[in-house]
Amino acid sequence: MENAVKIHPAVDNGIAPTKEGFAGGTLACACTADAVTVALNGQTAHNHVCGCTQCWKPDGALFSQVAVISRENVNVTANADKLQVVNPNATIKRHACKDCGVHMYGRIDNTAHAFFGLDFVHTERSTETGWSAPTFAAFVSSIIESGARPENMGAVRARLVELGLPPYDALSPPLMDALATHAAKMAAAPN
Ligand SMILES: [Zn+2]
Ligand SMILES: [Zn+2]
Repeated sequence: MENAVKIHPAVDNGIAPTKEGFAGGTLACACTADAVTVALNGQTAHNHVCGCTQCWKPDGALFSQVAVISRENVNVTANADKLQVVNPNATIKRHACKDCGVHMYGRIDNTAHAFFGLDFVHTERSTETGWSAPTFAAFVSSIIESGARPENMGAVRARLVELGLPPYDALSPPLMDALATHAAKMAAAPN
């Protein structure tokens, strides 16, 4: 029986496996001419689907799919002049194509942030296969803020579990632990 709950095109019909030794690839925005391209030098990590209201989602998707990679491995290779920051006040500065709206990379400028040095990317914008596969769902309850029906949340969470993407209403426990560990270190550090 076909499941009616659509999470994201990259997971709805089965999740492509991570390829060992994958060397990276190129992301392209959705413009058919003068596309912005971003080369990612190497494999991504912590790929997941995200229900927050900030991440870029393809049309009709309940969730985004987003992973991280070291910022020094992210290089804009074409049409950089079309990029603009979606919300300059956000912790993660999402650089989007101003013509098609696709977010090409998100960057944290605050050097004190636990995730400083990591850029956020949507590997579905690449034609290469072998990127790190999504392994959990973050900020699941937040899809309600984007218009999802609260009465469907049970079905959404059940589908995520079925796909092997354990649903969390924040980040995954290891990432929440990393944030808290960093916060504890910062609190203990002399000023
Ligand atoms: Zn574009
Ligand atoms: Zn998000």
